[in-house]
Amino acid sequence: MSLHGNYDPQNIFAQIIRGEAPCYKLYEDDDVLAFLDLFPQSFGHTLVIPKRAAARNILDIDADNLCKLIRVAQHLAQVLVDELQPEGVQVAQFNGAPAGQTVFHIHMHIIPRFAGQGMGVHATSKADPTELEQLQARLVQRLRG
Ligand code: 5GP
Repeated sequence: MSLHGNYDPQNIFAQIIRGEAPCYKLYEDDDVLAFLDLFPQSFGHTLVIPKRAAARNILDIDADNLCKLIRVAQHLAQVLVDELQPEGVQVAQFNGAPAGQTVFHIHMHIIPRFAGQGMGVHATSKADPTELEQLQARLVQRLRG
């Protein structure tokens, strides 16, 4: 039932939105929040989430919030490409556990892809906090520029 169940307000991304759990924040406006993935599949792996939609997946979310989410995802993809200079960038979004979803608050993954480097295993290896802090500082600086 992971595709069709009720929204759980205690999911980790809802806690991050409420400020009850920390994140390496990159961008925030009234509707959307972007932060670094704690278990990145590549250097710069970023998550973008809607703040005002209690939606588990693409089937639940209203079109207005979905548009806002995608606009910010595009902006963050550009910032990541400008700052990290990957040869590719993967944008992904999973719906339901069989599709790979593990956190049931809709989100988009932006995963820089570097030539000759494979992608890490999904949601598995926790990044070094110092590396995440340094990367956050670089990307926030780039976003301001
Ligand atoms: P999904 O599998 O639902 O598409 O993606 C969930 C993502 O959230 C995974 O890439 C996983 O590494 C990431 N993640 C899980 N828990 C946390 C957390 O507490 N903080 C952050 N920043 N990312 C998380």
